[in-house]
Amino acid sequence: MKGLEWVEAEINEMKNNESFRPLTELESDQRAKVMINGKEVIQLSSNNYLGLTTHPRLKLEAVRAVDTFGAGTGSVRTIAGTFSMHEELEKELAAFKHTEGSLVFQSGFTANQAVLGTLLTKEDIVISDELNHASIIDGIRLTKAARSIYRHTDTKDLEEKLKEASGYRTKFVVTDGVFSMDGNIAPLPEITELCEKYGAVLMVDDAHASGVLGRNGRGTVDHFDLNGRVHIQVGTLSKAVGVLGGYVAAPSAVIDLLKMKGRPLLFSTSHPPAVTAACREAVRVLQEEPERIDLLWKYTKYWKKKLKEAGFDTGKSETPITPVMTGEEKAAHELSDALLEEGVYARSIVYPTVEKGKARVRTMVTSEHTPEILDEALEAFIRAADRTGLQRNE
Ligand SMILES: *Cc1c(COP(=O)(O)O)cnc(C)c1O
Repeated sequence: MKGLEWVEAEINEMKNNESFRPLTELESDQRAKVMINGKEVIQLSSNNYLGLTTHPRLKLEAVRAVDTFGAGTGSVRTIAGTFSMHEELEKELAAFKHTEGSLVFQSGFTANQAVLGTLLTKEDIVISDELNHASIIDGIRLTKAARSIYRHTDTKDLEEKLKEASGYRTKFVVTDGVFSMDGNIAPLPEITELCEKYGAVLMVDDAHASGVLGRNGRGTVDHFDLNGRVHIQVGTLSKAVGVLGGYVAAPSAVIDLLKMKGRPLLFSTSHPPAVTAACREAVRVLQEEPERIDLLWKYTKYWKKKLKEAGFDTGKSETPITPVMTGEEKAAHELSDALLEEGVYARSIVYPTVEKGKARVRTMVTSEHTPEILDEALEAFIRAADRTGLQRNE
C-alpha cells in the first residue's frame, strides 16, 4: 500500500536472506507432544515447564470462573475491574513469595514496564545486565533515569558501575534471575552483597525461574536463600505457571505506589476471570504437587546428558533451557526445519534475539517429557544434524 513501501522492502529483504520465519501453528493443546501441520511432533520449545497448561484443576477453575463471573471484567483494575479473585490471588502470591505484598499485571512484560516506569525517575540511575530481557530494556526506555549497563553476569564490572554511580537518589540494579536464551543463572548472592555494600536497590526478574527454581518454584531469591534481601521480584504466570500474567512481589509501599501509578494497571483492562482463577489454582498446585518440579529437573539432567554424550554443544545452561548451539544463523534454521521433518519442534533462535554467530536451536524440557520421549527426540536430533551437516564432538 502507498506510504508503506519501506515495510514491503524490509520484508522482502528478510525473505531473500531467509531471516523471515512464519509463525508455527499448534493444532492441539500444549503438551509434550503437539500437532503441527497435521502431524504429531515432540514439543521442545514451550515454557510449559510443569505441564500446567492442561492441568485438570486449572481447567476446571477456569470454566467455573467463566460460569460465575463471565468472560471479561469490563474495566481496568483501578476503576471497576478488580474482582475479589484478583485480590485473593495477590494475597496468595505474597504469602508464597514471603513478601509484604504482590500485584498482578496482564503479563510479565507489562509488569516490568510498570515497575521500571514507576520507580525510576530522572533522579535515579538504573544499572542493568547487558543480556537482560527485552521487557526490562523497554521498561528502562520508558524512564528518564540515567543508564549504566554492566557486562553479562560480571560482578566485577557491576561493582565498577556501582562505584561510578554517585549523586543519584537511587541506584537501581536489575537482572534476570535465569537468562532466557542461554539458561544460565544470575550470580545473585554476589549481586545482593554488592547492592548491600553500595546501598543499591535490587530487582530480579524471575520469569524463567518462577515454578522452576527455589522451594516449590519460588524463584532464584529462594533458591539462593536470599529471602528479605532482594527489594523487588518480578515473576510470570505465563511460563511454568501455565496461564498468563506477570506479578511483582515487594514491600507494601512499592505495591501501593504501583497501584496508584503503574500505567498498565491504570490504562489496560484486568485479567478475565478464567485467567485469574486458573492462576490462583496453579499457585496452589505448585505447593501441593512439588513432584512436578522434581520430574522437571530429573528430565532436564537426563536430556542435557544425552545431548552432550551425542556431541552437541549446549552452551552454559544450568536450567531446563538447553540451547543446541549451531553458530551460523542458517545452520540453526536448517537444523530446526530438519527436526520438524524428523518429528521434533525446536525453534531456531538467531540475531537479533541472540548475538550474531551465536545462533542456536533452543530446547526446553518439561515434567511431561519422559525419558522415552527424550530418547526419541535425541534420535531425531542426530538424524537432523547428520542431514544438515552440523558437526558433533563425539
Ligand atoms: C518471558 C519473560 C518475560 C515476559 O513474561 P510474559 O508473562 O510472557 O509477558 C519477562 N521477563 C523475562 C526474563 C522473560 O523471560
